[in-house]
Amino acid sequence: MNVLVINCGSSSLKFQLINSDTEAVLAKGLCERIGIDGRLTYQPADGEKAVSDKAMPSHTEAIQFVIDALTDKETGVVKELSEIGAVGHRVVHGGEKFSQSVVVTPEVKKAIEECNDLAPLHNPANLIGIDACESLMPGTPMVAVFDTAFHQTMPEKAYTYGLPYEYYEKYKVRRYGFHGTSHSFVSKRTAEFLGKPYDATKTIVCHLGNGSSISAVLNGKSVDTSMGLTPLEGLVMGTRSGDMDPAIMEFIAKKENLDIAGVMNVLNKKSGVEGISGVSSDFRDLASAAGEGNKRAELALEVFAYRVAKYVGSYVAAMNGVDNIAFTAGIGENDCGMRTKICSYLGYLGIAIDEEANGKRGEEIVISTPDSKVTVLVIPTNEELAIARETVALV
Ligand code: ADP
Repeated sequence: MNVLVINCGSSSLKFQLINSDTEAVLAKGLCERIGIDGRLTYQPADGEKAVSDKAMPSHTEAIQFVIDALTDKETGVVKELSEIGAVGHRVVHGGEKFSQSVVVTPEVKKAIEECNDLAPLHNPANLIGIDACESLMPGTPMVAVFDTAFHQTMPEKAYTYGLPYEYYEKYKVRRYGFHGTSHSFVSKRTAEFLGKPYDATKTIVCHLGNGSSISAVLNGKSVDTSMGLTPLEGLVMGTRSGDMDPAIMEFIAKKENLDIAGVMNVLNKKSGVEGISGVSSDFRDLASAAGEGNKRAELALEVFAYRVAKYVGSYVAAMNGVDNIAFTAGIGENDCGMRTKICSYLGYLGIAIDEEANGKRGEEIVISTPDSKVTVLVIPTNEELAIARETVALV
């Protein structure tokens, strides 16, 4: 079956068409500047990437252009729309309502809408994407795959904040975690790759990208993860602060004359390694600046690595041990210098890194030495494939 995987943002939409039998990507692309003007990038698996300006007043036009591109006589990859058997939608927040992917029904859409409060930038856009697909592809089953679902197995002690309990009861303020599709995919693949039973192994997944999070996966279940009610908690990220003393918010608001929205903007968009370094949120820029002697870029990289290492330590405690540590996403998969830096804090776990293996890029590989007490590896994530698999399983 061909599955269209849609990741819909407020003004953009990423898509992939995946053949679920071969798991090959038939075509992929991106609609940008939806509601502004509109641009479509389309790339069939065995063809040239094409970028074209198209008027996209709403997501409905964007999806129509995606369908047109996929069914185009010359550059399309299917003959007609009916060759797309299902659509898998990435949905950011499923709150406590969804611990698994689900087939979209009117009730499901209502329940997703009820989680809008928890992800005001993302969930409404995800719903718009679902509506647009439903109107253009009537009768094609749709599946919602939630970023939060995998972490719904976290125990109460891990998801409860030290806040008045009534905020949880009234508003569902608790830790949820994100990147669940990736944490699930990578932890499962880690066990498979190592030939270990998924339900009897302790894995820490370090998803290090523009947004970064870590999870503790005990016997196939997420028992803790670093992001919380929102994706702002946890690691120091590209532009997000991660954990900090909450009193800083009031302090900075007064000093800089900012309101709550202003402070949130700083914490989400002007902090992290970009804020510390003043250079960039991209780790390639940071590494080259640090190499040229930029002390703040060097500091940003060290702060990032130190925070990751501290989380790893806390998840060893959470699981009373660890068998495997898997690195994934943009930084985790590509930045061998950062992996070395992080692992240099983990000698107490009996971890030893094989620097030659660690120097390879873009493949599944064990980077620890054979006598390392914990297996450290790189497992490239593939959220689109994971969404396609979930979709097929449900339809
Ligand atoms: P997201 O999906 O959250 O946007 P990604 O997982 O694609 O992010 O990660 C993007 C980040 O990965 C970039 O900001 C960059 O810092 C980092 N990255 C990508 N390639 C490399 C590389 N070769 N070396 C170091 N860092 C890299």
